[in-house]
Amino acid sequence: MATTHIPSIDPPSLPASIAVDEDCDGGDAPESAAAVNAASLTTTVWSPFGRPEVGWEIYAPRVAAEIGTTCAPSSRRFAASLARWQQGHGLRPSGVLDPATFQPMTTRWHLARPFVRTNAKGICPDAPPISSLATARPNESYSGKVIQLRPGALEAYRNMVTEARAAGVLRRPEVLTLFSGFRDPVADAERCARDNNCQGLVRTICSAHRTGLAMDVYIDAAPGFGPDSSNDDNRRAMARSPVFRWMVVNAGRFGFVNYAFEPWHWEWTGEPLLPGVPISSLPQAGSQPVAPPLAKP
Ligand SMILES: [Zn+2]
Repeated sequence: MATTHIPSIDPPSLPASIAVDEDCDGGDAPESAAAVNAASLTTTVWSPFGRPEVGWEIYAPRVAAEIGTTCAPSSRRFAASLARWQQGHGLRPSGVLDPATFQPMTTRWHLARPFVRTNAKGICPDAPPISSLATARPNESYSGKVIQLRPGALEAYRNMVTEARAAGVLRRPEVLTLFSGFRDPVADAERCARDNNCQGLVRTICSAHRTGLAMDVYIDAAPGFGPDSSNDDNRRAMARSPVFRWMVVNAGRFGFVNYAFEPWHWEWTGEPLLPGVPISSLPQAGSQPVAPPLAKP
């Protein structure tokens, strides 16, 4: 039972099949699609999460996993796989990654998170009793701070780390260590009042971290940035890392879903957010409005 996994609804990061020997130069995508993707990857100016960004390299690993290819974003195979995904989702099969394609794709990613589906109903899940939480080992903590999670989430995390290590993607000791887990909403409120700085409380009014199911893991950091900086250079460094590329394909097998804007933020879906509410009774993907994407998870 080491890898027991109760799947989230329609997990997006489990491509049905990826050919072992993909011909990345092949595929029946429109001629120009690969060239358009190659250019837009680093140049397009857009605001997919409410603030301006340049290019979509940060999201390329997730898009590739979603459309079921291991080929580069500039390849013909990538364009062909994207066209097939577009066709399957009622979109024009251009093979071009554009906002009209990325928006419904990110909606799927958001709705794969039970926490988002619960929030969409106007529900903020209660925090579990602190006494019910498990504590990560010191060598599992990025900075030595005490990290607590629900026991099932910690076990799933450990199983994933074991497999990531076996896959050779943990190139440095800090990779996949935890820098945040359960955040106690009561303690945050007290700190806010005491320090007269309620920024943390605003972030924590309904954070996924209150559930004991969400964790922030060290993926990578660009020079001068911490592992939770949403600076685009920092997120790009994460997107290029072997461990993130491995996780977007494999973390779903362990029950984890990711918040697309933050490569470090993962939520375990193996047990209900709310006591007595089975995961399957939450709204189906696509049936609910999406929470504001920049809402702090
Ligand atoms: Zn987080």
